[in-house]
Amino acid sequence: MSETSNRVCAVVAEESTGAAREALRRAARVADLAELRLDYLRDFDFTSLDALRALIEQKPLPTIITCRAQAEGGKQQVGVRVRLRLLVEGARRFADYCDIEAAHYSKAAALSPDLSRVIVSYHNFSETPADLNSIYDRITSMPAAVHKIVTRANNVADTTAIFKLLDRARTDGRQLIALAMGQPGLITRVLGPVWGSFLTYGSLEPGKESASGQPSCDELVNLYRVHRISRHTAITGIIGSPIGHSASPAMHNHAFARLDLDFVYLPFEAKDLLDFFRRFVRLDTREIDWNLRGLSVTIPHKSAVIRLLDEVDETARKVGAVNTVVVNDGRLIGYNTDVQGAMEPLEKACVLADENCAVIGAGGSARALIHGLIERGARVIVFARNPAKARELSETFGVPVLPIESLASTDAGVLINTTPVGMRGHSEGLSAAPRAALRGRRIVYDLVYNPMDTQLLIDARAEGCRTISGLEMLIAQAALQFELWTGQKPPTGAMRDAALDGIARRTE
Ligand code: NAP
Repeated sequence: MSETSNRVCAVVAEESTGAAREALRRAARVADLAELRLDYLRDFDFTSLDALRALIEQKPLPTIITCRAQAEGGKQQVGVRVRLRLLVEGARRFADYCDIEAAHYSKAAALSPDLSRVIVSYHNFSETPADLNSIYDRITSMPAAVHKIVTRANNVADTTAIFKLLDRARTDGRQLIALAMGQPGLITRVLGPVWGSFLTYGSLEPGKESASGQPSCDELVNLYRVHRISRHTAITGIIGSPIGHSASPAMHNHAFARLDLDFVYLPFEAKDLLDFFRRFVRLDTREIDWNLRGLSVTIPHKSAVIRLLDEVDETARKVGAVNTVVVNDGRLIGYNTDVQGAMEPLEKACVLADENCAVIGAGGSARALIHGLIERGARVIVFARNPAKARELSETFGVPVLPIESLASTDAGVLINTTPVGMRGHSEGLSAAPRAALRGRRIVYDLVYNPMDTQLLIDARAEGCRTISGLEMLIAQAALQFELWTGQKPPTGAMRDAALDGIARRTE
């Protein structure tokens, strides 16, 4: 599969030997190696080497056999002697490698394994411990072909320890698999091979993950394009918390692929913005040597990020929020593409100068929208539930702010919802405005994009209004980011397809 030394290993985690054999065949289509998790099998005789031979004799790709102890995430109890004999003899005769936990190394060593086929592994399912170097010292004192250290990242900051370990193994001339589980650890799974990790693991299908935060092989190969990433690849990504459901990685990575650009876009799950900038972003303090080109910034960091930047463009400064950072020769420059991104779909639908616009909500996206509307000569009236935020908006932008209950009183032709009301996982099925308050509007625009058809838009269409989905803004603001980072015109069709696909997946 791979044109580089970056290797993707498909984890085969099936309950029947028939399904496992079939999965190995599928693995050969997407991965460079397979890991066969024997402890998942329910119809397998763990005492029989013939059973293993029948399973992997025809293996279509290099295969690691693993039979985890329950204490290390194994699916069932298999006696330790039976387990180790199966692994040691299985690797000697049929498989390419066996994976043995460091805790059981001495028992396995007593069986005189072929050390050129042994992977010694350490797992920590709760954290990335501070003493990773001494763990590395301990496990690398056990002779083997490959050593493996897998921890859990509870924050993206934990991943720097993994990258440092990979640097150390490279210097030591050792083969190491190192990665961090959990959503914040995803960047180690995507970039690990470039740092020299012997391989990275992917599930064969979504839903068949064998570890927390494990992406599918399809995502590793076709979304993050792991096989083509190098130390020169321009790194971009989204910083926020939570970001697990963001559509941005799909939109940007598909757009990079469409234009064959050497860029990748990663999710950075981080609550501590200052720490992230210190460890990953600022040239003078960062702990990771990479070609960082830009960031999307999302909830809750859009305002706080401003003081960490070298320069902020005028729009972002006026709105008081940055959603895009460009890294230019180490200088950090902030932009706000939400403003133009929110305006583009509206401007396609109407001329905003002198238009009366009612905005529901007083949060971050309301500020971007109000700024854009005023800049284009529209007359804005805001409807908000929080009097303190309403006052602040009114003072900043010089617009009238009324309680949400009085929405029906305005005759604004354009109505825009900037609250999360109607959003999947928040209040799907509810509308940000009573149907009666939609009567007579020309355009109703909902910033919520999942679902695409919110109750507000359904009601608005029933009232004869023209509707605009938040998807349009989502694509427009991302397209502007893409252009800022790459200097190229974005393939918006690819971005739209990726966003729609992401939304559809989250509907399943
Ligand atoms: P935010 O800063 O948290 O602001 C949300 C606003 O909605 C606040 O004023 C909040 O009022 C108000 N609100 C929340 N629940 C409400 C309710 N039940 N009734 C009335 N008002 C309510 O969030 P944001 O960043 O502006 O994002 C808001 C929505 O826009 C989200 O759904 C987000 O996904 C969407 N959005 C879409 C795009 C896009 O590209 N399409 C871009 C940005 C945002 P309080 O202050 O009283 O809590």
